[in-house]
Amino acid sequence: MKKFLSILTALICAFALISPSFAELAVPEAVAVIGSEAFADCENAQILTVYNSGATIAEDALTGSGIHTIRCYRDAEEIIAFADRHGINVEYLDEEPSITVWISGKINNLTERQVAAFKQAYPQYATVPVTIVTASEADAVDDLQNADTQPDIFGFAQDQLAVLKNMGKLDPVINAGEIRNRNTAGSVRAAEIGGTLYGYPMTADNGFFLYYDKSVVTDPSSLESILASCEAAGKKFYMEINSGWYQIAYFFGAGCSMSFTVSDTGEFESVDIHYANENGLKAMRNLISTIGSDAFVNGSRVDVAENWAAIVSGTWDSYGAREYLGSNYAAAKMPTVGGDQMMSYGGYKMLGVTPQEDSGRRTLCHALADWLTNGNSQLEHYSEAGWGPSNIAAQQSEAVQGDQALTALAQQDAYAVPQDQIPGGYWGLATGLITEIMEGEFDDATDETILARLQQFEDDIRALTEPESGTDAGISMPTDAFMRWAGDGYAMSSRLESAGYNTDLRFADNNVEIQRDQIDEMIDEGVKVLIIAPIDPTALEAQMARAKAAGIPVISYDRLIMDSDAVSYYTTFDNYLTGVVQGRYIRAALNLDNANGPFNLEITAGDPGDNNAALFYQGAMDTLRPFIQSGKLTVKSGQADFDDVTTAAWKTENAGARAAGIITEYYANDTVHAWLCSNDSTALGVTEALRENYNGDWPIITGQDCDIENVKNIIRGQQSMSVFKDTGDLAAQAAKMAGQIINGQEVDVNDTETYYNGVKKVEAYSYMPGYVDAGNYYEKLIESGIYEEAWLQ
Ligand code: BGC
Repeated sequence: MKKFLSILTALICAFALISPSFAELAVPEAVAVIGSEAFADCENAQILTVYNSGATIAEDALTGSGIHTIRCYRDAEEIIAFADRHGINVEYLDEEPSITVWISGKINNLTERQVAAFKQAYPQYATVPVTIVTASEADAVDDLQNADTQPDIFGFAQDQLAVLKNMGKLDPVINAGEIRNRNTAGSVRAAEIGGTLYGYPMTADNGFFLYYDKSVVTDPSSLESILASCEAAGKKFYMEINSGWYQIAYFFGAGCSMSFTVSDTGEFESVDIHYANENGLKAMRNLISTIGSDAFVNGSRVDVAENWAAIVSGTWDSYGAREYLGSNYAAAKMPTVGGDQMMSYGGYKMLGVTPQEDSGRRTLCHALADWLTNGNSQLEHYSEAGWGPSNIAAQQSEAVQGDQALTALAQQDAYAVPQDQIPGGYWGLATGLITEIMEGEFDDATDETILARLQQFEDDIRALTEPESGTDAGISMPTDAFMRWAGDGYAMSSRLESAGYNTDLRFADNNVEIQRDQIDEMIDEGVKVLIIAPIDPTALEAQMARAKAAGIPVISYDRLIMDSDAVSYYTTFDNYLTGVVQGRYIRAALNLDNANGPFNLEITAGDPGDNNAALFYQGAMDTLRPFIQSGKLTVKSGQADFDDVTTAAWKTENAGARAAGIITEYYANDTVHAWLCSNDSTALGVTEALRENYNGDWPIITGQDCDIENVKNIIRGQQSMSVFKDTGDLAAQAAKMAGQIINGQEVDVNDTETYYNGVKKVEAYSYMPGYVDAGNYYEKLIESGIYEEAWLQ
């Protein structure tokens, strides 16, 4: 008991010193975390979870407790021995419960340092790995929808609270009383729905104002004079007016309004919007005239803006603006435009915790979110990144009170509209409106035309709060275990949803029976169109017949549904060409046209039931076979026919097991120069098998899909290439086709000849694949915005 008690006492003291409130955290009923105050409640617990493998338990520590099972890692030797001695069950924790935090502003690794301080304060979590990913709070909803893996803790802007809660992404704050007390009332209100607190307020600065160069802009009080000064000096004025966030400066400034009501359960109920009137007209005319200035640039990021003398942004850019402008740095409230004071949104950012299955992990996540948003952390964020605190004590600090940017924000506060809940669909509609202006569509427009457009905008916004009618599109994807299919599915559903359609998105766990049931259910729901990526393209006969009978058109997605006349359209990447791209890569990398060889090649293809797999194989082998025939390439395993090289269900484990056998048998003392893998999941298996069993020079390895793990391998030189199929394009095309079908419009296709499914030529839209390798991944995947750089580290 002694050692334990002393850990316990030390920790309780630590809690008392650092965060007195932490001791109030609810104690999980059946799980105790060693070293935390929860252990004090061991008497009521039945399971003891030990995250610290080095921990020891005093012999009599659990005497009299109800603990029958200890959960720990396999290397927790002392704990396991203790359990053994006391006849207590041991369950092994699979892996360290790595915690992922999504947060913006990774300034000088501040979050990493705050996490390190947290671990010092809570030694029981000292060994828990924490991964910090840079993500924008403004994009939390989209990012959570589209990401391959979900964060445990993530930052978000308050307007997304209702949507996130409805998505089931927010676990209520455990220690709500304390969090309420230490933050401003507005920030707390912004984090609750129906009286329950769902977020840890982190900033009270989610608003915008003006940074300017005082040597150029002499009068920052009107936009007309700012633009005139910039024009005269050949400098730029930046404002991201095609963003729904910044653009309200014009509309609300001119007297328009828009606010949504949200029910206690977080559903959008109604909107009060007034845009289609004289005020809206004035705002549109002001926007047209701003866009007409030579000084105007649409943008808001100080780090990418060039040659600027004024920019509308927020406190997150205060350090960048100060650095860029040096002694000419100045900040002010928003100017007037056309005589009207420009308004802004005022808002808050907060951290949310996603619901956790494991209660020990839940306690840990809440403790960390609490720590990352406490007064001290907020002050650090202020002093290193200029974030404006929501913590009451931090707001009182001298530094915060003397800050120019925060002062400008405070002046703007009088003209700030609280940013309440906003449905996701608003942003696309707002961007659409301003994009039309930027493209010059209203340059010569009459007032009537502009008013009609504003009326349409109002109608579109109202439609966002109308109760959902039936499902428009059913989307059936093979599995969400592969990044590619999860990405495709969510991309399609979010595109369709933001265009105003209801979708039902299902993943079938790579199980044909499940996929059949899911499609049957969608047909029963009365969907207007089905988008299906079949697991087995020959196995959906009954569902196709039912869809046809119900008059539901079917878009076959990426994989062509065979032997059915019920398939209406197909959209895909050219699958044969995908194989050709892989074959050509090997041919060039080994310089097969000139080098003498001979080189050793092995082949790993895809699932034999997926007709794409045969096409990939054919494309690659038609390119490489001449070199096999001429003897420049040798397949030492002798396994070169399609039937000998397939991988059931495209599974990494299956590909890895076969590769390990080949390596051990044929390459113990020889080099394999190239390994043709049809896609990334199989390439991952081959790479792992090579890592474990092979000592020779690393081979050329191909892949397909640019999954994150594989791109990481490309960066570290363990995979050579991956065919790059911009599935965002494919998903956008399928969503577009679905919309056209629902609206009875002509469907966009570019190929009516190539895709014969055994019964009919299916009208298709097909894309050309490219490839990514170490030389171009940065441009293709990061600069193009497909992945964040941090995801590939
Ligand atoms: C797709 C590939 C994918 C494979 C495994 C194929 O049908 O076209 O992109 O790698 O299935 O999911």
